[in-house]
Amino acid sequence: MEDLVVQRKEGLYCPPGDFYIDPWRPVDRAVITHAHGDHSRRGNAHYLAAAPAEGVLRTRLGEIDLQTLPYGAVVDHFGVRLSLHPAGHVLGSAQVRLEHEGRVWVASGDYYVAGSSADAGEDNKTCAPFEPVRCHCFITESTFGLPIYRWQPQAELFADIDDWWRANADAGRASLLIGYAFGKAQRILMGVDRSIGPIVVHGAVEPLNRAYRAAGIDIPETPIATEVKDKALFRRALIVAPPSAQGSTWTRRFGDYSDAFASGWMQLRGARRRRSVDRGFVLSDHADWPGLQRAIAATGAERVIVTHGYEAVMVRWLTDQGFEASAFATEYGLDDDELPGAVGDAVAASERAAEHVAESIGDVEAAGIVVAPEDAPVDDAGA
Ligand SMILES: [Zn+2]
Ligand SMILES: [Zn+2]
Repeated sequence: MEDLVVQRKEGLYCPPGDFYIDPWRPVDRAVITHAHGDHSRRGNAHYLAAAPAEGVLRTRLGEIDLQTLPYGAVVDHFGVRLSLHPAGHVLGSAQVRLEHEGRVWVASGDYYVAGSSADAGEDNKTCAPFEPVRCHCFITESTFGLPIYRWQPQAELFADIDDWWRANADAGRASLLIGYAFGKAQRILMGVDRSIGPIVVHGAVEPLNRAYRAAGIDIPETPIATEVKDKALFRRALIVAPPSAQGSTWTRRFGDYSDAFASGWMQLRGARRRRSVDRGFVLSDHADWPGLQRAIAATGAERVIVTHGYEAVMVRWLTDQGFEASAFATEYGLDDDELPGAVGDAVAASERAAEHVAESIGDVEAAGIVVAPEDAPVDDAGA
């Protein structure tokens, strides 16, 4: 029997339904899991996405031919029953469930589920929480698919951020917190203690905040840094900005400031230093290693196909657990579309490769996973 999703040069393709999921080249019909730049590209003739994604998708892509579907609603396309289910990653993010001739496949897109507990306190408050969907085959992401990635409870993490901000404010110093403009920035804005001081955002963050507020998410009203007249306000302020703002002349208006970077990559030794920031906070919109395991188990799938991230490590681990496992080579990358173009992408990719090869393989082996030589391109990474 033919697979329900296969890999084509344009992207992941559903042959009986004749549509693509998050294609990286322009196609006629694209089902979009979420509005991050590497998953929702311009140039497709028709888009289908979850209803809560409409605002953020239009903010990022402008005028597109977009059909939306409430979570759980079913459309039938050439005999394929398609529905979208919350992925907990960013506003409107969805897993794609496909049912055809008695078989069910689910493509996860990116998802967030904390592995530390099934506690609702660990949900991403900026969107509908991840919903496990039973299926025969699960196509999973594996951005943080190594045993070293284990997120601390969110309450602890945000207490750490609040402590850093409060100490800076008490010293009369601005707090510049760098995080991606879509998803990460809103997690920060919802998670911090708003009583510590004023919160200010970079101009790239505000259009997305507006889309979140319009969708009913409780994002505080925040002035844009360039519109703040009274510079004294910055001395107690938390300023939320994307990576492109770091080190730019835009930061001069703050006077004395401390900076920090919020990302899952901050779990890696050396990541904070490479980003040249004072602090690193491990805050991710992706599942950690236990979260990936929990999510995969909850699907009940016998077969798992792994996409972007540590495909080889995940496939090996899944095979050892008795799953039928393989990988798709996709063109999804970091949710790093704030970096300026190809140069930024290349820097991010090489940085990631170098860090991971140098610092992760040892941990993987320590966890009992055998990493084949072809998975460790030490020479290429120059690590
Ligand atoms: Zn994403
Ligand atoms: Zn992704």
